[in-house]
Amino acid sequence: MPRYKPNNYWSPKYRIMTCLVCWTNERPHNAKGMCSRCLGRWRWKNDEKWKARTMSLTAAWRKNNPDKWKAIMRKANKKFNKS
Ligand SMILES: [Zn+2]
Repeated sequence: MPRYKPNNYWSPKYRIMTCLVCWTNERPHNAKGMCSRCLGRWRWKNDEKWKARTMSLTAAWRKNNPDKWKAIMRKANKKFNKS
């Protein structure tokens, strides 16, 4: 049994079986009744401080890892051009 499902609740704290936004329990609960992906999206819309910090962290990482960043962008472009 996965560690994040005590008492069969996806989130015992919120007493819910799935993420409130995407209705799946594929990812572990993160916070506010949401999985990590939905929480990230929610924060992106609602948490300016978090967004600013994330963006500056991403920018710093990009600066320190230009080759990795290029690889990611190449992959993303491939995916985008396919569909
Ligand atoms: Zn979700």
